Amino acid sequence: MSELTKLTLAEARDKLRARDVSSLELTEACLSAIEGAGALNAFVHHTPEIARDQARAADARLAAGDAPAMCGLPIGVKDLFCTKGVPSQAASRILQGFLPEYESTVTSQLFDAGAVMLGKLNMDEFAMGSSNETSCYGNVVNPWRRGNDDTALTPGGSSGGSAAAVAADLCLAATGTDTGGSIRQPAAFTGIVGIKPTYGRCSRWGVVAFASSLDQAGPMTKTVRDAAIMLGAMCGHDPKDSTSADLPVPDFEAMLTGDIRGKVIGIPREYRMDGMPAEIEKLWADGTAMLKAAGAEIREISLPHTKYALPAYYVIAPAEASSNLARYDGVRYGHRAKLAQGDGITEMYEKTRAEGFGHEVQRRVMVGTYVLSAGFYDAYYNRARKVRALIKRDFDQVFDAGIDAILTPATPSAAFGLGEMQDADPVQMYLNDVFTVTVNLAGLPGIAVPAGMDAQGLPLGLQLIGRPWEEGDLLNTAYALEQAAGFVAKPGKWW
Ligand code: GLN
Repeated sequence: MSELTKLTLAEARDKLRARDVSSLELTEACLSAIEGAGALNAFVHHTPEIARDQARAADARLAAGDAPAMCGLPIGVKDLFCTKGVPSQAASRILQGFLPEYESTVTSQLFDAGAVMLGKLNMDEFAMGSSNETSCYGNVVNPWRRGNDDTALTPGGSSGGSAAAVAADLCLAATGTDTGGSIRQPAAFTGIVGIKPTYGRCSRWGVVAFASSLDQAGPMTKTVRDAAIMLGAMCGHDPKDSTSADLPVPDFEAMLTGDIRGKVIGIPREYRMDGMPAEIEKLWADGTAMLKAAGAEIREISLPHTKYALPAYYVIAPAEASSNLARYDGVRYGHRAKLAQGDGITEMYEKTRAEGFGHEVQRRVMVGTYVLSAGFYDAYYNRARKVRALIKRDFDQVFDAGIDAILTPATPSAAFGLGEMQDADPVQMYLNDVFTVTVNLAGLPGIAVPAGMDAQGLPLGLQLIGRPWEEGDLLNTAYALEQAAGFVAKPGKWW
């Protein structure tokens, strides 16, 4: 593998601007790394022609001295983003053959900033999952392994293709989306950085909807600096998304001083779960000590409604999903079932949706329809909304009391084996999100930073949760943590 693909966005940007390397060279290096990494199943639609065209255009801009933030930098794009004329299937059979007529706001902003798209990345179907095992393209395989054991591990989900591709140096960075943890959990499972910004920071326009009040796009990168660079290019006000915030976008990278002296970091008591592995406990304690050593004040805090977050999420997210996914009816997009003589419109809907949606998506549609149904609406959906308000209030109260950021583990374990949860109750899989869903329910920014390894040599991540709209400050705290943790390990290449 070429050393070029190992560069961070910041390093590659500086080399491009110094004309030490061209975007076309970087792009070719990534394209051949992707060719050689079929075993990971991370890239599911390859767009080498688009990449080369964009790279040539970027080289021309660089030559003219016009080099915006992402100019010439090759990235991967999660399959959930609509990309004009390029398959955008949300890893679902139901969107097979769908070629969007338009570009999502996030990808179009990245392209305006000069980014080069290498292809589309695998994910869980409609972003529902924590292991990338619900994809119509098949599993993604984590580039990391447990020591010399060749058991195939999950990269996490739903942005598992993005995580694996970045960790394996197939691209310099990738887009992800996060409804309940789908950027942060796979980032933690693969030793990379992932930030879910404040709800409303990135436009959702052109991102296939899962649960609209929770979905946010964000960058998945090798370093915190790269996350700052890429987030700046992705976010900003978009009149096409009514929930997009009309706020200025600060220069996030310029805010990375690493100075966190006097910052107050909260350690939430309720995140210390029964049965939490000792390694996760230790990682969390080590992270706390690192922030303290960097000059932060550590305070124990309480977020009393934490234990209701997961049940509330698994009512609200399926409710919104059942409504959002009603549009896939065989009429407007993608797949339509072959009909038998005498079949009417109802059979067409039923057969199309039965063939087009995988099991997890069907489960969510059924749960969502149930909790929204007339007899159960108050008991489930309205109650979950009230719980959500209480969870948000817990966070508001600690921020009002002077907390700048909250430190928690990102996941309750390291990456697990593919297939390991196959026979488990679906709730076992949902437990992966125990530390991350609260952040989506409250609309806050959260970032996963690789901070250590387990005894088997797998990466472990910590999560920092910030005040709304203060991603710059959050990134700076994450930067201080990254520097203190000094996580530089890479997966050994076996693919
Ligand atoms: N794992 C969670 C779920 O299955 C979160 C997914 C996501 O953030 N898109 O809903």
